Amino acid sequence: MEIITGTSRPRGSPSDADGAAESAVSAPRRTLGRVSASVAAETRTGLVRRARKIDRVLGETYPDATTELDFDDPFQLLVVTVLSAQTTDKRVNAVRPTLFAAYPDARAMAAADRATLEAIVGPLGFFRAKTESLLKLSAALVEQYDGQVPPRLEDLVKLPGVGRKTANVVLGNAFGIPGITVDTHFGRLARRFGWTTETDPVKVEHAVGELFPKKDWTMLSHHLIWHGRRVCHSQKPACGACTVAKWCPSYGEGPTDPVVAAKLVKTEGRA
Ligand code: SF4
Repeated sequence: MEIITGTSRPRGSPSDADGAAESAVSAPRRTLGRVSASVAAETRTGLVRRARKIDRVLGETYPDATTELDFDDPFQLLVVTVLSAQTTDKRVNAVRPTLFAAYPDARAMAAADRATLEAIVGPLGFFRAKTESLLKLSAALVEQYDGQVPPRLEDLVKLPGVGRKTANVVLGNAFGIPGITVDTHFGRLARRFGWTTETDPVKVEHAVGELFPKKDWTMLSHHLIWHGRRVCHSQKPACGACTVAKWCPSYGEGPTDPVVAAKLVKTEGRA
C-alpha cells in the first residue's frame, strides 16, 4: 500500500484544481452544522457520484486492499473471521497454522478435544467462548452441509456464531460473491462521508449498497476498512493526510495540519 507521509497536501486535497466541479460538497467544512447543511443540499446524483469518486480514490490509495486475515479456503476464512472478534488479525494469523494443521476441515474440528482446542486459541483471549463457538460451528457444518461452507447469506447467518458481517466477509472473499461488510470502521466512515445517517449495520449496508454497483461491494468494504484503520480513526482522524479530504464533508473532524496529521497515520492495519 501507499504509505502516506503527509508532508505535502494529500492527493485529492482542496488545492487540487479538478475537484470543485465533481461534488456538491465542493469545499471541506469544518463544523458539524455546515457539514449537515452541505450534505443536505446534495442531490442524489451528486451523492452517488461523490461516493463513487471517494471509492475510486481509496482504491488508488490502497491498491493492495484485501482482507487482512490469512486463509486458504472458505472453512478457514469462516473460522478465522469468527476468531477475530475482540482481537487483532495479526494474532489470529499467528495461531492459524497450528489451528489448521491440527484441524484441517470442519469434520476434524467438530471432533476436536476441547482442552487441546482451547490451548491453541488461548492467545486470542476469550478462549472458552471461542472454543465453544468453533465446536458448534464445525458440528453444524458437518450436520447440515456435509462439512462444506454454504455459499449463501441466508444459510451462513443461521450457523452458530455467524452474523451478517462474518457472512459477507466469507461470501466476498472466499466465494467472490459481492457483499458489504459493515464493521465499526465501515459504519463510521459511511456516516462521515455523509452517505448515510443510519447507525444500525443492516440499514447502513442497504443504504450504502444503493450507491454502488453490486460488483464493487467487496472492494468498497476493504477500502473503507483500510482507510478507517490507517487514517480515518475513530478518535482524531488524520484529515490533513487524507487522500479523500476533498470529497469528505467531515474534513476538519481531526487535525488538518499535514505534519500533525502524518503522525496519526498508521501504515499497517490491525497490528
Ligand atoms: S480523515 Fe478526515 S477528511 Fe479523511 S475521511 Fe476521515 S474525516 Fe474525512
